[in-house]
Amino acid sequence: MAIVYFENKFVEEEEAKISIKTNSFHYGTAVFEGIRAYYNKENDTMYGLFFKEHYERLFKNMRILNMEIEESIDQLVEITKELVKRNNHKEDVYIRPIVYFSDLAIGPKLIGYTAKIAIYTLPLGDYIDTNKGIKAKVSSWVRLNDNMIPPRLKVTGAYVNSALAKTEALLSGAEEAIVLNKDGFVSEGSAENIFIARDGKLITPPVSDDILEGITRKAVMDIATDLGIPVIERSISRTELYVADEVFFCGTGAQISPVIEIDGRKIGNGTVGDITKKIKDIYFDAVRGKVEKYKNWVVEIK
Ligand code: PMP
Repeated sequence: MAIVYFENKFVEEEEAKISIKTNSFHYGTAVFEGIRAYYNKENDTMYGLFFKEHYERLFKNMRILNMEIEESIDQLVEITKELVKRNNHKEDVYIRPIVYFSDLAIGPKLIGYTAKIAIYTLPLGDYIDTNKGIKAKVSSWVRLNDNMIPPRLKVTGAYVNSALAKTEALLSGAEEAIVLNKDGFVSEGSAENIFIARDGKLITPPVSDDILEGITRKAVMDIATDLGIPVIERSISRTELYVADEVFFCGTGAQISPVIEIDGRKIGNGTVGDITKKIKDIYFDAVRGKVEKYKNWVVEIK
């Protein structure tokens, strides 16, 4: 039986129930995170990845939605470590904290309500392929922007946009969507950031192009910079995807996912590119605490 964190305590999953009247359930006003912890079988240790960074982002998101909870960032890091321990995980896991307005009240607004946090864990290997490379499709759905539903918010309501794009991609035989912003530039995947490689350089859309400020995006930029690969943040046009040498998605769930075909066009020679492979290999070692330089990404869960 899984243990979850609900209403300020650890309880059996069965006991963590919310009412159908819960306010955020109706208006898409819950903010959440997707966090991972990795199992390193060589030293039989679970490593929590970027725990603090995820809760820092959650708290920024809560500020936008006018939410306050009883737990602090540091407490949530400890609670999350404890949750992984209590569930005796010895496998890679995904961790989902969600902050929601728990009031049994009608009305889409962000004042006068009480916010609560719930956290659960689940074993999760690849969310999308990370090895052979995937097919992606540029979506006909347009990314939200800061004056609609801010893409910097990991808010449940925004994921209607992701779900529409992802579903369109799946129905067309692709595995993931690439969503353009209101100006027609590439923003991101349905739930991951995107990088392209051209002439030995990495290019990724700037935050002003309506993307989530991804934590993995930042990690990829750090790895690339340390490898001496220049990283440029600038707008990317749709057709630049087709002529890129390499394309990959990144995200906590997606990890590093090479893209080998977009809209029926092969990317590069249609196999996983060298830069993607290098970054991916380092990333997968780092998340299991195996790279000295990136030890500060992880917390040992003992
Ligand atoms: N963009 C969107 C829309 C996402 O949902 C995610 C997943 N959180 C990402 C990008 C990647 O962000 P991160 O690396 O922080 O998981």
